[in-house]
Amino acid sequence: MPAPNPGPSDAERRRAAELRQLLQRAAHAYYVLDAPVLEDSVYDRLYRELLELESRHRELISSDSPTQRVGGQPAEGFVSVEHRIGLLSLDNAFTLEELEAWYGRLLKVLDRTPAPGEPLPALPMVGELKIDGNALALSYEHGLLVRAATRGDGERGEEITANVRTIQSVPLRLQLADPPAWVEVRGEALIPDATFAAINAERMAQGEAAFANPRNACAGTLRQLDPKVVAARRLDFFAYTLHLPDDADGLRISAEGTLASVGAVTGPQQRDGHGPLGGGDAADQPPPRSQWEALRWLEAAGFRVNPNAELLGDLAAVEAFCARWQEARRALPYATDGVVLKLNDLRLQDAAGFTQKAPRWAIALKYAAEEAPSRLLRLSCQVGRTGVVTPVAEFEPVPLAGSTVARATLHNADRLAELDLHAGDTIVVRKAGEIIPEVVRVLPELRPAGAVRLALPHTCPECGSELVREEGEAATRCVNSSCPAILRGSLRHWVSKGALDVDGLGSKLVEQLVDRGLVGSIADLYRLDGALLASLERMGEKSASNLVAALAASQRQPWHRQLFGFGIHHVGEVSAKALAKAFPSALALATAAAETPEQITAVFGIGTEIAQSLQQWFSTAANQALVAELESLGFCFAAEPAEQAGGEAGAGPLLGQSFVLTGSLPNLSRSQAQALIEAAGGKVSGSVSRKTSYVVAGEEAGSKLAKAEALGVAVLDEAALLELLPPAPSQAS
Ligand code: NAD
Repeated sequence: MPAPNPGPSDAERRRAAELRQLLQRAAHAYYVLDAPVLEDSVYDRLYRELLELESRHRELISSDSPTQRVGGQPAEGFVSVEHRIGLLSLDNAFTLEELEAWYGRLLKVLDRTPAPGEPLPALPMVGELKIDGNALALSYEHGLLVRAATRGDGERGEEITANVRTIQSVPLRLQLADPPAWVEVRGEALIPDATFAAINAERMAQGEAAFANPRNACAGTLRQLDPKVVAARRLDFFAYTLHLPDDADGLRISAEGTLASVGAVTGPQQRDGHGPLGGGDAADQPPPRSQWEALRWLEAAGFRVNPNAELLGDLAAVEAFCARWQEARRALPYATDGVVLKLNDLRLQDAAGFTQKAPRWAIALKYAAEEAPSRLLRLSCQVGRTGVVTPVAEFEPVPLAGSTVARATLHNADRLAELDLHAGDTIVVRKAGEIIPEVVRVLPELRPAGAVRLALPHTCPECGSELVREEGEAATRCVNSSCPAILRGSLRHWVSKGALDVDGLGSKLVEQLVDRGLVGSIADLYRLDGALLASLERMGEKSASNLVAALAASQRQPWHRQLFGFGIHHVGEVSAKALAKAFPSALALATAAAETPEQITAVFGIGTEIAQSLQQWFSTAANQALVAELESLGFCFAAEPAEQAGGEAGAGPLLGQSFVLTGSLPNLSRSQAQALIEAAGGKVSGSVSRKTSYVVAGEEAGSKLAKAEALGVAVLDEAALLELLPPAPSQAS
């Protein structure tokens, strides 16, 4: 026997009550005041959380729960009218998986679930854009617009006929020779982006609050008491739903985006084209049998139908439509917040029916949200290579803008204080496109009782030494130069791509080397031997010897990479290049930093901040010791090692020879091989010609190797290349 449902815990009860209260306040601000207090995606996720709590514990459902009704109340100031056919909502999916799950449920309701191993049956759908405007219900009698109403709570809306009459794309009379006695058309009123910007500019110039988005501006406009103001705002309208009743008394309920209904609206026999249309009137348009035909009917009657709707044959076509509009929507001149998928065949729509709030045969796929709520799990701190301590929020994983995020930087102590973050807080997290996730704000309404306010610790979480925050500085630092976190950071930076580019020395290995006390400085890396490395976790003999070779090769990296690798504050890749060009050695740079800083700031793009930072770095005893130690291990901190060796600019054993690299070499990365060739005076080019001296080919070499063979160009492997190069500075044992 299944275990009885234990009933909601106190925490669940509290959370449900808090969510209800917050969502009610947000819905009122959104639907009635047209001034939202939450982002739509945040509202959607909190709504889902409440829905899930309520479905787990039905006793948590209260009649005033936002999950129990559609939309908002009708606003005051307009006559409230009852809809002849209820306007329902749409169920939402946020991911393709949820869309597929909906498709599966639909097949089940229609009794079409395939047997195991059989392909999914195709259900043709109409894909439409989900226009982010306001739903309107327009009633026409004998072809004449007699009433326009907002959705309101789905049963009653506001009568706004005078305002809607100003919308040019709403026909005042249907363009049909013999229109039905009654017809209801639904669609979305909207304000195009350009008009929205102009309205807001004007409002701000007059000292009024700007609208949060075009949807709110549209809702606010539709509720203007003066139709002249509405006319001036040039609203637009896309029609997407048609109701052609054959028995007005039988009308009960229908949904947004549908031609179908429950009960006696447009019965199947009528959709077959045999029944009477519009209460017995003959019409010059055949009665549609599908959503696609309904859209064509609306067009013929004089409505603007969104031209981007598509008839989609199967689930794969549906998914391609969704994927395409995810990006393409950005080029549209009006706002959309997803796509709507509607089962095309009206008889199947009837068979699928409705839930309490929405049709089963339609779904809105909302675009990947850029903001979502999540619950803070803990505050952790990261100590960077410069000792800066960065607070990091760790929270329950949330899907955001195409990936799942669970951590976001909080930057510094000031930002932490500004957010007023407390343990267990519900936070709003944002990630726009490729941008790093951030915590936008906290929802204090959902804060657990007695939660503790969070702040940075006083001591370093890595080494326990007292943290320091200089006056006027935003950063809090660990100033213990032997702090393992600082050491790990500088090692990682030294071996990174733009610096010495050492392959095979990832973060995990750096961590192991530091934690086991095998490496206490950058110089120690060059004392590691293969046998010791091979004994470490996840290392074998081959990877150990590759790493030793990669470290040896890294000693020949050019001076600007070495300079960047030191990780001097403010010295990035670009400034390291500029400095290395102007000062050909560490000695020259250190001397200029100490004695003639004006020579440093004379370099294009280099300012006093960098000059001071260099002065500080080169005058620090530990850094001087590091440079000396690395030199004793064979490093030469000077421009063009080949130049130094040959004594003449542009000299080197490979002078005048051109190389093409292809495939992956066993030990050297592409950029290392290129650096070695260039340091020896050679040139590296991207394509093979008769003039190419050598093609250096590694594993999985492609067409370049074939071309070299065809042209008779000499082909080298890595070992043969290394033989052409001058000997490396000695690797200390
Ligand atoms: P919905 O907006 O998710 O979907 C239904 C609506 O989609 C319809 O009423 C219609 O207006 C619109 N629509 C646009 N194009 C359509 C098309 N081609 N076919 C059919 N319908 C189309 O659901 P809802 O019940 O109107 O509103 C709930 C939504 O409102 C929430 O998901 C949330 O995003 C938003 N909301 C936000 C807040 C907030 O605080 N930000 C508060 C309440 C509601």
